[in-house]
Amino acid sequence: MDNLIEVESKWEKRYFREREARRQAEKLLEEKSLALFEQNERLKNLTENLEKLVKQRTNELEEALENANQANLAKRDFFANISHELRTPLNGIIGMTHLLFDTNLNNIQKDFNHTILVSSEILLNLINDILDFSKIEAGKIELEQISFHLGETVYEILDVLSSKVNEKGLELYVEEGSGIPSNFIGDPIKLKQILINLASNAIKFTERGEVKIRLSLVSESEKTAEIKFEIIDTGIGISNEKISKLFSPFTQADASTNRKFGGTGLGLSISKKLVELMEGEIGIDSKPGCGSNFWFTAKFTKQDSSKVSYFENNPILINHEAHIFEENEGLAQTLKHHLDRWGISTQIHSKLEEIGSPQNSKNSLIFIGGVNESKLLETTNLQSILSNFEYSFFLSKEKSSKISSICRDLGFTQMLFKPTKFPYLFEELCAALRIEIHENQKEELSSPLTKLEGLENIRILLVEDNLINQKVGLAILNKMGCNAQVAGNGIIALQKMQEQEFDLIFMDYQMPELDGYETTIRIRNGHHGKSKPNIPIIAMTANAMKGDQEKCMEAGMNGFLSKPIIQKELQDTLQFWKKTIE
Ligand code: ADP
Repeated sequence: MDNLIEVESKWEKRYFREREARRQAEKLLEEKSLALFEQNERLKNLTENLEKLVKQRTNELEEALENANQANLAKRDFFANISHELRTPLNGIIGMTHLLFDTNLNNIQKDFNHTILVSSEILLNLINDILDFSKIEAGKIELEQISFHLGETVYEILDVLSSKVNEKGLELYVEEGSGIPSNFIGDPIKLKQILINLASNAIKFTERGEVKIRLSLVSESEKTAEIKFEIIDTGIGISNEKISKLFSPFTQADASTNRKFGGTGLGLSISKKLVELMEGEIGIDSKPGCGSNFWFTAKFTKQDSSKVSYFENNPILINHEAHIFEENEGLAQTLKHHLDRWGISTQIHSKLEEIGSPQNSKNSLIFIGGVNESKLLETTNLQSILSNFEYSFFLSKEKSSKISSICRDLGFTQMLFKPTKFPYLFEELCAALRIEIHENQKEELSSPLTKLEGLENIRILLVEDNLINQKVGLAILNKMGCNAQVAGNGIIALQKMQEQEFDLIFMDYQMPELDGYETTIRIRNGHHGKSKPNIPIIAMTANAMKGDQEKCMEAGMNGFLSKPIIQKELQDTLQFWKKTIE
């Protein structure tokens, strides 16, 4: 019995123990569940907060992106507007400078006027650079396809660079390879932009020696030709590891460059893009201290031309003899190359004193260059050497009256200023030697502004708000013999059209009150007054952004001239429309 009680009590104890244990376990489970629940709640809150934060950040990012896009658009508009604002006064300066050349100017005034023109053109290039870079960034750059003469285009850049190169006492010349066609279709302005960019750099980074622009023919097919342009300097050079980075925007070979030479680091990246558009390549061969060769290739469509060019071989100066003494060997060889082309038998001398006498003093020429004032005066027999020649030319970097009077006293017949455009020398030589040049050859170099037959009967309305542009436009049109009137904005233009009949309208794009776009739409919608409803309207705008031309055409305009106004383009436009008006 006792045993039974003992067993019962044992089971009872065990039962209570186990019940207690289960209770404890349940309590623990409850506590754990609660903790888990709380943790879960906390996690849920955290996730919600996180989601809220992500949403908020996404909104902020979207807003920032929208702002950045707006800013980009604003930047583009700013570039377009600023370019317009800067080009308008430049149009006035360039137009007036051209007109000044046709007045009675003495040589010094002509020289000053030339400097104004060249500087204005540099400024125009700079504006174009900034505008181009913004267009490149927006992928909106396009090439023109117009006819041009390769030689003229390349030699024109010597005018732009002459003051810089003479200031530094460097030689600058063009070395033309053989067999290069001369007339092409392409974009001469952009080609000049690349050449000026690279040649300006070459001058900037060269202290002594020369900058040479070398042209050669890479390949030629029936329709196209690929030309290589090399700009070779004797300047500071660049190391290999720096070369690879130079074509990225805002990059300079080293930080000190900017401090010493200035510049934006934009020139090469713009040049690279332009070269790529011309289906070419660009590269550099250079070593520190040994100068650089910046080269590029470009492909152009060939254009037929039956005209004989000054730049081609034209041996009409056969029977003439020339002697050259020029310190710079490359320059002497280049001059010889051109004289040979014209049939002149030419000899280069390495010592001034040793030149002696020509075989025949008639038809003899002597060219002396690379000699400074004191060397000229020191050369004892110089006067007697010069007197042996019919014509003597001094190639001078300096344009002072002092050097002119020294040259005159020594007996030089003419001074040629460096950098010399040697092909153009042909005309001067022919004039000096009193040789007739055939009329169609003359045309090749200059086509002066002339009165065009029948233009006085064409009634032109020039719609332009800027007073200077009005003056320039009217002066050019009047000089061409046109009957032109001016209207200061679209409203005045529409009023004038009610009062009288016009045959052609030149229309500025941006004007106060009523701009060119709106005015054209109104004319095309029936507000043409006494003029014909289809009166030709030619847009004239300094705003060179892509899309402007399309907009003008959409509004109902018939042509597009971009400012600054180029007299020749205006003349060609009038000539073209004259036929339709008659
Ligand atoms: P910028 O001349 O305005 O600085 P560029 O893009 O034209 O910009 O040139 C970039 C850099 O390339 C220059 O700052 C210079 O360091 C280097 N460079 C260009 N041309 C030459 C050259 N002919 N000789 C030496 N360094 C040059």
